[in-house]
Amino acid sequence: MSDINNNNNTNETEDEYEKYCYLCRRPESTAGPFISLPNNIHICNECMQKSFDSFNNGSMQFIDLSKMPNINMSQFMPFDDIPKSQKVKKRKKKEEKPEEIPLTLETIPAPHKIKAMLDEYVVGQEYAKKAISVAVYNHYKRVITNSMDDIEIEKSNMLMLGPTGCGKTYLVKTIARLLNVPLAITDATTLTEAGYIGDDVESILSKLLAVADNDVEKAERGIVFIDEIDKIAKKKETHSRDVSGESVQQGLLKILEGADVEVPVGSGSKNAMTPMTTMNTRNILFICGGAFPEIETIIKQRLNKQSSMGFLADLKDKYDNESNIIKEVTTDDLREFGMIPEFIGRLPVLFTLDALDKDMYIKILKEPKNAILKQYQKLLALDEVDLKFDDSAYAAIADLAMQKKTGARALRAIIEKFMLDIMYEIPRDDSIGRVTITGDYINGTGAPIIELRGADL
Ligand code: ADP
Repeated sequence: MSDINNNNNTNETEDEYEKYCYLCRRPESTAGPFISLPNNIHICNECMQKSFDSFNNGSMQFIDLSKMPNINMSQFMPFDDIPKSQKVKKRKKKEEKPEEIPLTLETIPAPHKIKAMLDEYVVGQEYAKKAISVAVYNHYKRVITNSMDDIEIEKSNMLMLGPTGCGKTYLVKTIARLLNVPLAITDATTLTEAGYIGDDVESILSKLLAVADNDVEKAERGIVFIDEIDKIAKKKETHSRDVSGESVQQGLLKILEGADVEVPVGSGSKNAMTPMTTMNTRNILFICGGAFPEIETIIKQRLNKQSSMGFLADLKDKYDNESNIIKEVTTDDLREFGMIPEFIGRLPVLFTLDALDKDMYIKILKEPKNAILKQYQKLLALDEVDLKFDDSAYAAIADLAMQKKTGARALRAIIEKFMLDIMYEIPRDDSIGRVTITGDYINGTGAPIIELRGADL
């Protein structure tokens, strides 16, 4: 008896350890909360449910133990096996997040303020920043005043076109962070029609719900970004069923517009064990993005045809050499590309982002608030070393990145490569006060300029 009492005594140190389910051995952080029985036995809800189910199915004969003489419970439950203390420490609770300011008519920033905040992080893309600021402002104003239904204006769902690595995802991420709304990012290529292998469209909402800590109300005001949307264009000639193209576009229609959708909580797939909840997508802002390669050919063809016809007939190949032709995109071109009209109709805000040029690469290195070079400068400043880049270094990094043709994404890899040696060697020598990275160092033809601590440093 005294043993049992000892087991039940929880003191502070024991409290630091995880409880385990007696049947499936999973810890409480994964399978909890637990139902606690005497003698330090804990059973998770799932195992308890399975036990009840097997009783109900009649697969287990019920024995009335109380009617059996001299029964010793330890025959059935080997209490000695139970570890006296659980050896996995509980995770420390994350630090409390600062109080979130909810979006209200008073707190929602006006479009010019949203754009100014975006300017601190996103280089160039002036038109896109303006368009997204206005669309987001209008959307949330309608959500806050609950007038999504009253006014017969279309929802501000967006479609943005731009080459890879020019800042589409980054723009959406930045705006969601500034407005403090949950954001789910998903890739259209992973989506398939319900019933086929892959994620069905509800999985997008599941992700959003998870990002919003399973708070349905919060998730219903969130943003969903669907990347690589051009990959679900209708295939031109197909003899098989198009499960990842046109039918996914069809599947997305209802959630883009606004509908009640049954969503699995905590996992992307529906099965008997996953709890479901209903989410309404009316107030969710959907932003789709894609590079739409080859749409330029479609646009050029259309423009050339227009200009070579009729009264004001012009050269037949007037637009063939025009750069940034993507700016001229229309919904007709998108339809020609393979997007279905109903789908395009539900993304009324259409805009393009510019391909990055050398100047923009250099600005991306220097200007954003959280620019990667600034992060390195801060790190080395902790060792009291002044890290500098001369103009030839910026130009050399930009040249290398442009060769990779993956947009600004290439910058990080390039910088990390040459910074490795610097970060390894500099803290070794206390006397170093300043390091200047040059273009020669980036190109592998020279060394960085090292200055020792002196009177002037
Ligand atoms: P994509 O257009 O393919 O979605 P991303 O938005 O993911 O490209 O860009 C990749 C990374 O490049 C971003 O995380 C960001 O750090 C950087 N980047 C791209 N474009 C810009 C930009 N215009 N201003 C600042 N950083 C940018």
